[in-house]
Amino acid sequence: MAFQQFLNKIAPLAKLTKTELQLLSAPEHVWKAELSVSGKKYPAYRVQFNSARGPYKGGIRFHPEVNEEEVTNLAFWMSLKTAVADLPLGGAKGGVRINPKDLTPKEIEKLSRAYIRAFYQHLGSQQDVPAPDVYTTPQIMAWMLDEYETLTGKKDPGMITGKPLEAGGSKVRDIATALGGVYVLEEAVKKIGLSSKKVAIQGFGNAGSNMANLLWKAGYTIAAVSDSQGAIYSASGLSIDRVLSVKEKTGQVSLVPGVTAITNDQLLELAVDILIPSALSGVITKKNASQVKAKIILELANGPTTQEADEILQTKKILVIPDILANSGGVTVSCFEWQQNLAQESWTEVEIKNRLKEKLVGAFLQLWKKYSAAKYDFRTAAYLYAINKILAAERQRGFKP
Ligand code: NAD
Repeated sequence: MAFQQFLNKIAPLAKLTKTELQLLSAPEHVWKAELSVSGKKYPAYRVQFNSARGPYKGGIRFHPEVNEEEVTNLAFWMSLKTAVADLPLGGAKGGVRINPKDLTPKEIEKLSRAYIRAFYQHLGSQQDVPAPDVYTTPQIMAWMLDEYETLTGKKDPGMITGKPLEAGGSKVRDIATALGGVYVLEEAVKKIGLSSKKVAIQGFGNAGSNMANLLWKAGYTIAAVSDSQGAIYSASGLSIDRVLSVKEKTGQVSLVPGVTAITNDQLLELAVDILIPSALSGVITKKNASQVKAKIILELANGPTTQEADEILQTKKILVIPDILANSGGVTVSCFEWQQNLAQESWTEVEIKNRLKEKLVGAFLQLWKKYSAAKYDFRTAAYLYAINKILAAERQRGFKP
């Protein structure tokens, strides 16, 4: 599996013993089921990777390509992500192999409830806390909570996050990923003393559009943005409120008038200071990495840089802020939602933003310290930091390395 290859590669740097490598190479639990909806059966998974630092945490995706290997890989990366942001949580992931576009809303509700019926004994606010992921929504989280509470006969809103506000959700969750990215980026900009702040953002969905808007309001020049249908560029900077309104009306950023149309490939190679991939994985490759001109790459998308590309970026001394830190604002506010539910509190927007800033700036500075003191790149510093935090918790619980 991909994560095992990654572990084998990083093992010597992390000085992992054989037992430590074994421990990190397999999830603690893999739960599987077949869910029946309207006479059809769909494979479903919940993989609980590591819980040394707290209850498992990770989204549930409904997607036609879901399989055990993918869910396991994602569960591994969730364990690292919660560790990097120092959240008192472990890592998990779930999924159902289905194209949700083939189902009616009523059938999606049935599928969501069936998922909980299959796995509810392994879930709970002190056990495993799911959240939305690809093609799963706050509404789906509310159905799942309802099914869980019906089955257990107890109120436990903290058993799932990403809920609608009225069902125990948290303020700020909608922009959390982008806002976390902004906090981390601002620290990176200070550390490398970047004076010009010209930005290109690939992807204009939840993560990318909120990022564009937040940075634009903070005074950054957003030179280019894109979606699946094309990219747009303006040397003097795009007016993001205009882009948002065109995107909302037409579904395409490329219909904004008075700007230059470019391709998604060109966007990655623009002469900007900051590049923010916020759409797909594997877009910065060995083919285009040498053409990247940005000084900072903030990985808001999951896995946008291939390993070969990463090596090229390192030789070019580009600071790559890896996904496990760059987009951890989402899981951090999910953690806050869980904490609010457990404490039966509702925090204000200002309070949540302050806490998010404190968490992510703290994480960035910790990593920066490690990175500055070592010979490896920032990404490696983040991986080693996360792995060491998980292993420290394991040892404190009695694991013998
Ligand atoms: P989304 O579905 O809201 O948006 C995706 C965007 O990418 C859309 O604008 C789409 O048009 C664009 N896109 C698709 N194909 C493209 C292509 N070939 N070139 C350029 N753009 C393309 O998704 P999202 O929630 O914004 O997530 C984006 C990325 O961020 C994913 O990698 C996701 O895993 C990661 N992420 C998101 C969150 C979150 O809270 N939303 C949290 C962590 C990580």
